Amino acid sequence: MISALDALKLLQEGNRRFTSDASSRDEFSSRLRRIETASGQQPFAAILGCSDSRVPVEIVFDQGLGDLFVIRVAGNIVAPSQIGSVEFAAEQFGTRLVVVLGHTRCGAIEATLEQLQRPTENQSHNLHSIVDLIRPSVEGLLTTHLRHDLEALAREAVRANIRASVRHLRRGSPIIEHLIQQAGLMVVGAEYSLETGVVDFFDGLPKKNS
Ligand SMILES: [Zn+2]
Repeated sequence: MISALDALKLLQEGNRRFTSDASSRDEFSSRLRRIETASGQQPFAAILGCSDSRVPVEIVFDQGLGDLFVIRVAGNIVAPSQIGSVEFAAEQFGTRLVVVLGHTRCGAIEATLEQLQRPTENQSHNLHSIVDLIRPSVEGLLTTHLRHDLEALAREAVRANIRASVRHLRRGSPIIEHLIQQAGLMVVGAEYSLETGVVDFFDGLPKKNS
């Protein structure tokens, strides 16, 4: 399995192909690739992304069958099943790079901000469980000057939530902590721009790379 930094390079190159309309998707989803990967997988990165229909992970990183171990949930939140999925990828396949991929104009973040500013009683319990996980990372922002600028508030909240998910995953379990300390596992945070298609890896990169 390739190192976390080499995996990161592959994602950055793939995103560059995507934004320059040079995608290799036909090759990546070909019949040959399907047959090659049917008997086993070696995903080089695990991605925790949002369910938003505009952020299909394999497409924005220009990757194909067998390349990425993808976990998607509204608001890219970290609950036990997400931690378990990351453990599974790292232990079963030796995947060494984990990316939390949030995105601009995230509906889950906007719903959380809305709920904090104008609480409603009739929100479904299940939806509430997502908002509850996002809330701690964004509610502090409402006490800053950002509360006067809703667009800036939403932008900052998206990034705060990504950073919180990265922190949460890193300390998610003894297995993950051990892999970080002993086996070169890296957890980084990135934001996808709906407008430009660019993925900005802004959290958790080694200094020379950021
Ligand atoms: Zn979203």
